[in-house]
Amino acid sequence: MTIHIKGAKIMAMDATHGSDCFDGDILIEGQRIVAMGAALPEAEADIIIDGHDKLVTPGFVNAHIHTAEALFRGRYENLPLEMWMTLAYFLVGDGQLAPRALYLRTMLVAMDALRNGVTFLADDILEMPLQTMETLGCIYQAYDDAGIRANVSGHVVDRPIADTIPFFGEILPDDLLAQINAGKPPTVDEYVAFAKEAFSLYHGRTDGRLRFMVAPSGPQRCTVELMQAADELAQANGTAFHTHILETKVQAVSGQEFYGKTLVQYMHDLGLLNRGTTIAHGVWVTDADIALLGEAKCSVVHNSISNLKLSSGIAPIRKLIDAGVNVAIGTDGVSTGDTPRLFDAMRAAAHLHNITTPDYDAWLTAHEVMHAATMGGAYSALLEDDIGSLEVGKKADLVIMDLRNANFVPLNEPRNHIVYSENGSSVETVIVDGEIVLRDGLLTKIDEEALLDEFRELAPELLAKHAPQEEQNQVFIPYLQEVYKRCAAVDLGINRYGSDMPKWP
Ligand SMILES: [Zn+2]
Repeated sequence: MTIHIKGAKIMAMDATHGSDCFDGDILIEGQRIVAMGAALPEAEADIIIDGHDKLVTPGFVNAHIHTAEALFRGRYENLPLEMWMTLAYFLVGDGQLAPRALYLRTMLVAMDALRNGVTFLADDILEMPLQTMETLGCIYQAYDDAGIRANVSGHVVDRPIADTIPFFGEILPDDLLAQINAGKPPTVDEYVAFAKEAFSLYHGRTDGRLRFMVAPSGPQRCTVELMQAADELAQANGTAFHTHILETKVQAVSGQEFYGKTLVQYMHDLGLLNRGTTIAHGVWVTDADIALLGEAKCSVVHNSISNLKLSSGIAPIRKLIDAGVNVAIGTDGVSTGDTPRLFDAMRAAAHLHNITTPDYDAWLTAHEVMHAATMGGAYSALLEDDIGSLEVGKKADLVIMDLRNANFVPLNEPRNHIVYSENGSSVETVIVDGEIVLRDGLLTKIDEEALLDEFRELAPELLAKHAPQEEQNQVFIPYLQEVYKRCAAVDLGINRYGSDMPKWP
């Protein structure tokens, strides 16, 4: 299949042009871009797309999402991470979804992502109560069918839950402690066997469009042995090591309480910071942490909306960029971010840091946000040679936006319109791996309406099943409040809140 996009405005995000636009054509053959430039000769293309009044950009890379939360969009508000997690992911209980529900849950997000120009998801799947090869297979099937590109994880926790949150174990009554620690985490051998099978079944599926990544939940939630095994698997398979570090102040206190050092320093001392390491959040990193992340060429995924919603804090993105850390952008889970739409997280990221300093030279630029949302994400996914920019030889993952949409009228600086104004409504055509997956606003590979109807019909039953789990887990909330209060009172020498209010009132 060949596709010729003629006479469009192109924002290539490559090293030469960055986010500066130029007018030209793009020729796609098979999965890749084979030619780009001003007025390419008429080719015998199967499909010709008139690029007049159109803006073409690389597909947007959502570098951190949990689609397992898709049932809980719009369900929770005004809860910090630890309390929200207890209700959404339930510490105790059994709410395993059936394969069709898992498929639809994933498809719902994939459709929404594509419709909004997101061509890649780094989907960190924490399946409750247990991820199996079958549940993982449902996720891959949905992505295969929708035509999106994704790295999908087996999110893993192998320490007793009460030991992963500071002070929690010591303040919980015995019966609740026993309940919460009753779950049987996988052994390192079981985890390795699982990951190896996932690599052999799913990694590289659909001509490399779908991949598997390792995702130990976080250094306070996993044993050293498991993280080291995961790192070895990542290196051996050339895939990302995706983890959560220093999202909240509670996690910052965890480092001091558990290891007597920051969680970044701890990872560094274990030899676990390297080019393939991606850290979701990195909000409560110290200056020394930032230097270590930069030296190791790690990536940090900035989840601006989720960090705002959960009051996790403001990540020091300028300092991270200055230290050479690769910054990507994610929405985080579909409950804490409430959407897989990257435009929202990009806009929030672009504005959030302005309130941290009057020095406007230090504020993020629209170019930096565009870079983080494309090449930054690609680098984090270890796919920078294939996606993230429009270049001859790269995979054809791109978005065509309609410049007649009000978000672009009148047209000033295109990158500013995308970052500060675009909300997804101008996205007209989306191509992934050389295949048109959205054309004139319609998903081409699947019946969106039928899938949405099926999910809407199924959802009440799934939510009814979740409600008692949620109720049962309310019992832990007062103890988590106490943890939260104690951690709020700890002086870490840094403050990532938006005010001088780190103490519980
Ligand atoms: Zn996350």
